[in-house]
Amino acid sequence: MGRITVSELHKFLFDGLPVRGAIVRLTDAWQEILQRRAVNTSTGPYPLPVQEMLGEMTAAGVLMQSNIKFNGALVFQISGDGPLKLAVTEVLTNLSVRSTVTMIGDLPADATLTDMVNVHGKGRCAITLDPKDKQPGQQPYQGVVPLVDVDGQPLESMAAILQQYMRQSEQLDTVLVLAANDKVAAGLIVQRMPIKGEANLAAGAQNTEEVDQIGLNEEYNRIAHLAASLTRDELLNLDVETILHRLFWEEKLLRFVPEDGEGGPHFACTCSRERVGNMLRSLGQEESDSILEEQGMIEVGCEFCGQQYRFDAVDVAHLFTERGNDPPASNLVQ
Ligand SMILES: [Zn+2]
Repeated sequence: MGRITVSELHKFLFDGLPVRGAIVRLTDAWQEILQRRAVNTSTGPYPLPVQEMLGEMTAAGVLMQSNIKFNGALVFQISGDGPLKLAVTEVLTNLSVRSTVTMIGDLPADATLTDMVNVHGKGRCAITLDPKDKQPGQQPYQGVVPLVDVDGQPLESMAAILQQYMRQSEQLDTVLVLAANDKVAAGLIVQRMPIKGEANLAAGAQNTEEVDQIGLNEEYNRIAHLAASLTRDELLNLDVETILHRLFWEEKLLRFVPEDGEGGPHFACTCSRERVGNMLRSLGQEESDSILEEQGMIEVGCEFCGQQYRFDAVDVAHLFTERGNDPPASNLVQ
């Protein structure tokens, strides 16, 4: 058996310069996302172009969440007007991540991003910051941009879409390199730091001083140029130390402690077999039995991660026996 690699996030600053960066490599977390979908008998695995797109979104979601001071869920959505209806990545402050795609049609194996989500130019990219402890009446912050450039031409990569989002919605110069295959979803971000205030997605929008700085900081431009030279192959296949050395060996990097293992990016979803069982209980025995009669088995797929839960006649009978009606021990009040 080969070494099990864990997902990792590496953040860094360029000493004395208004520039920061991060590299994420999702391995086990990304493979879990793919695996849940692959074994779902009603959806099957993601087609290759969708896999690549969702992997890039997932890596980018972690990079964006790690770059802001915010306690809550960062939800990154692409809503499409083609066969791919919706792609969602959610990353919490603790770097737990889940992603999913809803499709309504078939895709050619060589489908471009435009073929998937922007057939009629109506695709949208939305980033929502949903705070954990909302005040009464408080709305989540949301930024939305179309999937076209300033001249109305379709943007052909996830990195291009997000760079445009950062410029339009947050007034921040950003370079992103993203790549994904069936083992790794990875990303590099380099960003000019806001002139003042917290480095927060939601703060830039009101700050007109930032607008005047776009594209003008020479030090940022030099580093951005280096970052953009990273190829997708290098990003997928080289370890983080090698990448940073190749790109920035002439720069003075200040490294943060790498985040991996439990404190690093990891897959998590709120679904469980117990929750689905409780849902079936509230549906009632009659209804559950009639589904069983019709389909031989009750299959419930989690809409956030694709995990499929199966209940056969024995499982369902157990749910509705006296024993099954007891609340789970962990919920008993002492
Ligand atoms: Zn789930």
